[in-house]
Amino acid sequence: MALKKFKTESKRLLDLMANSIYTNKDIFLRELISNASDALDKLHYLALTNTDIKEDDPKIELAVDHSGRILTIKDNGIGMDKDDLDNNLGTIAKSGSFDFKEALNKQSDVDIIGQFGVGFYSAFMVADKISVKTRKYNSDKAYLWQSSSQDGYEIKDDDKEDVGTEIILHIKEDTKECNYSKYLDEDELQLLVKKYSDYIRYPIKMDVEVSKATEKEGETRTEIENRTINSMQPLWRKNKKDIKEEDYDDFYMQNFYDYNKPLKTIHYSVEGNTSYTALLYIPSKAPYNYYTTDYKLGLKLYSKGVFIKDEAKELVSDYFRFIRGLVDSDDLSLNISRELLQQDHQMSAIKKSIDKRIKSTLEKMLKDDRANYEKFFAEFGAQLKFGAYENYGQNKDVLVDLLLFKSSFEDQYVSLKEYVSRMKEDQKDIYYAVGESIDKIKAMPQIERLLDKGYEVLYFLENVDEFMASILMNYEDHPFKSINKGDVDFESEDEKEKTKKENEDNKDILTTIKNALGDKVDEVRLSSRLKSHPVCLVSDDGLSLEMEQVLSDMNQNAGIKAKRILEINPDHDLFKSLRKTFEEKEAIDDYAKVLYDQALLIAGFKIDDPVEYTKLISDLMVKAMK
Ligand code: ADP
Repeated sequence: MALKKFKTESKRLLDLMANSIYTNKDIFLRELISNASDALDKLHYLALTNTDIKEDDPKIELAVDHSGRILTIKDNGIGMDKDDLDNNLGTIAKSGSFDFKEALNKQSDVDIIGQFGVGFYSAFMVADKISVKTRKYNSDKAYLWQSSSQDGYEIKDDDKEDVGTEIILHIKEDTKECNYSKYLDEDELQLLVKKYSDYIRYPIKMDVEVSKATEKEGETRTEIENRTINSMQPLWRKNKKDIKEEDYDDFYMQNFYDYNKPLKTIHYSVEGNTSYTALLYIPSKAPYNYYTTDYKLGLKLYSKGVFIKDEAKELVSDYFRFIRGLVDSDDLSLNISRELLQQDHQMSAIKKSIDKRIKSTLEKMLKDDRANYEKFFAEFGAQLKFGAYENYGQNKDVLVDLLLFKSSFEDQYVSLKEYVSRMKEDQKDIYYAVGESIDKIKAMPQIERLLDKGYEVLYFLENVDEFMASILMNYEDHPFKSINKGDVDFESEDEKEKTKKENEDNKDILTTIKNALGDKVDEVRLSSRLKSHPVCLVSDDGLSLEMEQVLSDMNQNAGIKAKRILEINPDHDLFKSLRKTFEEKEAIDDYAKVLYDQALLIAGFKIDDPVEYTKLISDLMVKAMK
């Protein structure tokens, strides 16, 4: 019988397979086992609708012939007739309008093989000759399909008696690069089945060596036993009420390499246009590399219980990158002969749905399980804030109500909703203070009077906080205002009028101070915001001093500077003495410099010239002690 040629596209794929540089050759087994499983599904379906068709104990069998270097994958599924063999194994991409050539040009082979597999042809990665013996359920004839190269294949009659398909792989000889013999090793095959095909619904059977105790103490003998090597039912496909919390926790710890139990398990199924089951976990601790580029985000993807890929980024949004887990969808097909576009569409529909589910779970936790939510937030809150900030705040509306901040209200976590709900009647703005720690913020000169007036102040303790506020801009129409900035406005009209007048009356001394400081500051002014402290340093709208610091720590500020305003407390004794000294025509330049450095120190910044500062203070002390 003449050799039939493969279709052009198939030939290209076969070339690719035979000489594959793709390192993960293991996946061929997953592909063949899921083909077998599909074939069993098809027969099962027919048997459901037609009582004449009998299913005979559906199973998949693996068999190894060591000396012949043969691995056989056998099923008693639907089988193929001659046309099927021609159509299914002679050509790729028969279904749909998928243009394989086009995809090959666009993507590397690694992408294609890695992402959805290439079905039957992947066997050419490990075998130099493949025989397929098969008999269709309703046929009285069996066939043998054979191919040992990409040139073509032949189909002959065969004497196979039972219905189903046998894929016979002549495993390649070992090379320097690849130890093909491992596909003839039962232990190795068991591991591969566990990894990729554990949850196939049908039993996968194989003869394995087991050691048995003999009558004699301490002596064992090996026996061959035909065993089912897959567990057949994945945890996530079980009924929720049959799963114990412990099962979920164990599964998480085994599969996601975490010593800690998860903080929260989310297990659900969605039926509809795109059906899927998800088993998601919120870890209780951020992995040590979480905030680095080493951290791998994404979920495991399964299709009908068959493992497809790890770390599928396209299944969950970046701002929920702390979520671990898996998604199993019956609607994703395992091969590339369906349009990739459609896959993308389904994947993004699933992602949308998963994001929504995570969000609603977090919302519910915040509402009903506050203590755990706060635990979660302490670990991953910075991620959510960063999520609200990044991409110019594209996702801020999704995330804003999940954010918490410690605040002056008992130093506890509050949400923005809570903050706004207890704002004072006359309060328009949401006040925040930026600092390294709660203690440092509490010691800030600017905060005293605000707290006296009964306003609540959010503590911005993380670098990302203020950047995030600058993107959010406001919450429920209440603008964010930094108490470290000059534009905080909590004074009454009278107070404002008084300050304005004081500034005018003191123009002379303020100008002198500004001149003494030169371009260290942009402005010197009196302010009514201070109570017991003599001075503070603030910035104007726009970049804050703290943001400037963060950016310069990251080498990213490109020379942009915050505006520096030295504010002086007109009611403080220090200013009164300074005024007196000034009126007595004595120089106040040195005092001005000390005041500025003090303001820097209180705000938690380094002073420009510590040596000069110390000298000034020593001089002043000497003078005072004379
Ligand atoms: P697919 O992703 O469609 O399974 P494959 O290249 O793996 O792509 O297989 C092509 C076709 O060959 C299948 O769709 C199926 O019709 C047929 N086939 C493959 N393996 C078997 C099998 N074990 N039993 C019956 N039919 C099979």
